[in-house]
Amino acid sequence: MLKIRDLTVSVNDKIILKDFNLDIDKGKIVTIMGPNGIGKSTICKVIMGDPNYKVESGSIIYRGENLLSLSVDERSKKGIYLVNQNPIEVEGVSNAEMLRSALECRTGEKTNFFEFNKKITAICEKLNIPASFIHRNINEGMSGGEKKKNELMQLYILEPNLILLDELDSGLDVDSLRELSNSLKEYFNDEVSILIITHHISILEYLKPDYVHIMNEGKIVKTGDFELAKTIEKSGFRLDEVSEN
Ligand code: ADP
Ligand code: MG
Repeated sequence: MLKIRDLTVSVNDKIILKDFNLDIDKGKIVTIMGPNGIGKSTICKVIMGDPNYKVESGSIIYRGENLLSLSVDERSKKGIYLVNQNPIEVEGVSNAEMLRSALECRTGEKTNFFEFNKKITAICEKLNIPASFIHRNINEGMSGGEKKKNELMQLYILEPNLILLDELDSGLDVDSLRELSNSLKEYFNDEVSILIITHHISILEYLKPDYVHIMNEGKIVKTGDFELAKTIEKSGFRLDEVSEN
């Protein structure tokens, strides 16, 4: 599904990722953990095409196609969806307006209002949010947890194949974390891949990762499974120990 090769990325002339490599296969759940400021969000931003993150060298191939030559909206249309660590508020644009036009762009068809409303109602029920959320401006005035739910509502409408979750669990209470994780588990299938960036194992207890990668100094320095995540949560990033692959 996604292949990142020897990717070097800078922000404001500072190198953040250096010869970074990552594979996310179809139907797999992959986790990246690492200390604050190490470049985890940078990975998500660069996959999505944020222009603040400059690709100095290397490649990102998504389903056999060079992702770096595509604009953000083209990447979205190809089925990539990022749940931002800090979702932005968009004043004056409602969820409904944005989603209807995004959906029409993605499918190339006019939205059937009846079907759209039916789908929204079911999604809101699953996420335990009022159906009126659809008429609110994107993330405006929402609490941290509500913003995350709102982002997932958008995700379930757009039906992406590659989901990037940048600290979805931050700011979520335990019940919301369970509801959102279970909804993702239900959505997940052989055609979907998920990248989970997290500091905590709670989300991984619901969404069992196939691989857990630890990052340091711009690249992945250790790979393991759920057990590795448990060790990190317990003992921290003892980098002298994790730097040997
Ligand atoms: P993480 O998600 O692992 O905590 P980030 O990828 O957000 O780390 O950031 C990596 C480094 O890049 C940090 O030192 C951060 O301050 C810097 N950085 C990220 N985005 C920007 C930006 N837009 N402008 C300036 N510095 C940035
Ligand atoms: Mg981050």
